[in-house]
Amino acid sequence: DADLIGNFGVLMEWADEFRRLRVRTNADTPRDSEIAVKFGAEGIGLCRTEHMFFKENRILAVREMIISKTVEERKKALDKLLPFQKEDFIGIFRAMGCRPVTIRLLDPPLHEFLPNKDEDIKILAKEIGVEFNALKDKIEELKEFNPMLGHRGCRLGITYPEIYEMQVKAIILAAIEVKEKFGIEIKPEIMIPLVGIEREIEIIKQLINQTAENIMSEKGMKIAYKVGTMIEVPRAALIADKIAKHAEFFSFGTNDLTQMTFGFSRDDSGKFINEYREKEIFEKDPFARLDQVGVGKLVEMAINLGRQTRKDIKLGICGEHGGEPQSIDFFHRIGLDYVSCSPYRVPIARLAAAQAAIRNSN
Ligand code: PEP
Ligand code: MG
Repeated sequence: DADLIGNFGVLMEWADEFRRLRVRTNADTPRDSEIAVKFGAEGIGLCRTEHMFFKENRILAVREMIISKTVEERKKALDKLLPFQKEDFIGIFRAMGCRPVTIRLLDPPLHEFLPNKDEDIKILAKEIGVEFNALKDKIEELKEFNPMLGHRGCRLGITYPEIYEMQVKAIILAAIEVKEKFGIEIKPEIMIPLVGIEREIEIIKQLINQTAENIMSEKGMKIAYKVGTMIEVPRAALIADKIAKHAEFFSFGTNDLTQMTFGFSRDDSGKFINEYREKEIFEKDPFARLDQVGVGKLVEMAINLGRQTRKDIKLGICGEHGGEPQSIDFFHRIGLDYVSCSPYRVPIARLAAAQAAIRNSN
């Protein structure tokens, strides 16, 4: 086994000599971060913060926050979440050392955090001391016919700025603490999801800067954070020159970008995609391999437009395609800086990035 691990290490070192693309990981726990680092991840390209909200010791506060009637009530619930969220980020920052960490502000529709069945709603009503019917009505009110095209991503930050404020506070406080206690200098990259309109990123960037400034002057310490955005709505790719005015980095969310460009639901499409495969409508599930002539064209367009505005804009991809070899070849060719994939795909991505560099060198 030692031989096997040794050989694996040598192979990876060879690959690293040739590749130009950096390889990061999608991780949202210290454990996943550690595994990914062992596999050679050079940073976190996507930390999805929603999973942290589901943990047992905080889901109640999350639910209180969602169903609260006033901003004051919502802020009170968010105050309960802040220490947990700060600890989440401290754990991840420590696991990553000085490597770059991209943290995405909350993305999913809030309805996902609430119970559905009457018996569960009853339990929650009791826990937070509200009437069952009132709670059920509130939950109904939050339901949407197309939640993936609904009240999610930066739209949450626009309508409930206090949620993003709490998260930014937690990120900056965590960065300050790991610097003070462990001497680790973290430069967090704060990422805004689902931007499709210039004004969205403008408003949220201002909120991030304001919140970060307040914390940093209170604590008397500066943190060199960056602000960037996911490019995952087709319109964001089309107006990437305008979005780049406010973004230090772009990270392509090819899961949503594929969903919205094809008009296929990423949650249900497996049902007919198998038949599409049999009938050779397309070669492969576009959620598994990037559609280079369609979705890929949008990515290329966004890169060109983004660079027109900001020559040195940092570019990555964090959708599932970030760990798929043929897609990685494409990402190499169009000049991304890094791919980000699940921890266990990091070695494959390193190898694929090296093969892409060799294949395309002539
Ligand atoms: C994406 O849309 O590609 C992405 C990385 O975000 P998520 O999968 O969390 O929507
Ligand atoms: Mg997405």
